[in-house]
Amino acid sequence: MTRPHFDVVLRNGLVVDGTGGPAFAADVAIAGDRIARIGSLHGESAVLDIDVRGLVVSPGFIDVHTHDDAALIVRPQMTAKVTQGVTTVIAGNCGISGAPYDRQSAPPGLLRLVFKSDRCTASTFADYVAKVQEAAPAVNAGFLTGHCTLRMQVMGDDLSRSATPDETKQMKQLLSDCLQLGSFGLSTGLYYPPARAATTGEVIEIAAALREHGGIYTSHIRDEADRVMESLEEALLIGREAGIRTIISHHKCMGQRNFGRSVETLALLAEAKQRQPVAWDVYPYTAASTVLIEDLVAMSSRTLVTWCDPHPEYCARYLDAIARDLGCTPVEAISKLQPAGAVYFIMDEADVTRILSSPEAMIGSDGLPEDVHPHPRLWGTFPRVLGRYVRERAVLSLESAIHRMSGLSAHHFGLRDRGRLAEGMCADVCIFDPTSVRDCATFERPATPAVGIHHVFVNGVLALRDGVPTDARAGRVLLRRVSATRR
Ligand SMILES: [Zn+2]
Repeated sequence: MTRPHFDVVLRNGLVVDGTGGPAFAADVAIAGDRIARIGSLHGESAVLDIDVRGLVVSPGFIDVHTHDDAALIVRPQMTAKVTQGVTTVIAGNCGISGAPYDRQSAPPGLLRLVFKSDRCTASTFADYVAKVQEAAPAVNAGFLTGHCTLRMQVMGDDLSRSATPDETKQMKQLLSDCLQLGSFGLSTGLYYPPARAATTGEVIEIAAALREHGGIYTSHIRDEADRVMESLEEALLIGREAGIRTIISHHKCMGQRNFGRSVETLALLAEAKQRQPVAWDVYPYTAASTVLIEDLVAMSSRTLVTWCDPHPEYCARYLDAIARDLGCTPVEAISKLQPAGAVYFIMDEADVTRILSSPEAMIGSDGLPEDVHPHPRLWGTFPRVLGRYVRERAVLSLESAIHRMSGLSAHHFGLRDRGRLAEGMCADVCIFDPTSVRDCATFERPATPAVGIHHVFVNGVLALRDGVPTDARAGRVLLRRVSATRR
């Protein structure tokens, strides 16, 4: 009896390799943590031999927009991700990151959205990464450095003004330190109160560190409603000035009077692409979710409370019903519930569909794992794209959808050995049934795993087998390759 040649062979699958190219029938072999062969492996043996006839074999999905900064440490099984076929997450989005932050009090304001306790913050990028590595999460993770976090660290509670030149210099230095240690870049959330008073110039000054060290710029823009065009222009200007790639986060047009404006925004982005590198991410829902903010309530058809510190009993209830209970107006209820989070029914399906199928649109869940009653995007994003938008509505081909979940994402984030199924690439693999895959998470029951995802490998190790999470925790911290020559 000869020793098996490979650790794993997946036989008779339909390979969708993440490049956007057409699917093809092939066997896929894994040796160690790498894809060893793709082709006909008849006669080759493996320790684990799985017949995947009728199933799609694709790269593991890359969730480019997450707030998993704390989840990776406190719930490292990452069940919400593994059950969707996600093998890599990018955290630190929307201006909020776990480092650098070492103020003694519990995380204030916006940081609470992501960190319910200070166990998950750290004064340096290296210390934060060490916490993640110690927790040994089931998926790979890369991190951005958040502008709101930088402001809170440098300016304390005094955030309703632009930073002084000295504070800006300190933030730029902190960002440089993170970039040298492998942060993927800078994220901003200029919409949010800790950063709203920041001028475009402040961000440009800080982002200059990206020109020196490399890295990308991701932006939760200043206004995704009436001023969406000006806000996109601002994000593009920052990227242009810093000479780096701009990623528009969770691109959307909010509020009924802005429905349909994705025609304009996508035209602007297409035009910008002619002169600078730009891409965007999107989640497949018409409801948004963040902290409870009056402006957003005013623009929404309905508002669902997702967490509420003073009144936990109001989680999972609609704001109008809560207001009736409290005998006040919804606006008065908002102030009684703080701090709190919410889901907002605030977008148009035609915009979501148009953005999903636009060139350069990557899939990112924007899931909020610390919420008591989270938006279903946390558990459903990727299977929902495959079920609802590929199979049921034919908005995207299977190849294009998978490209937006893997190869395209790896390209824009500079993940050179992930996001494609090819010999020598890391063995992050998702095996699913294209005829049954779908999301099951709903606004009523958000923490419901998807169906149709059969097996998931992370770095060659089975993280999900026959739809059931294993106890393997083979994820790695991904550090941006730091180029020493870049100046
Ligand atoms: Zn955001």
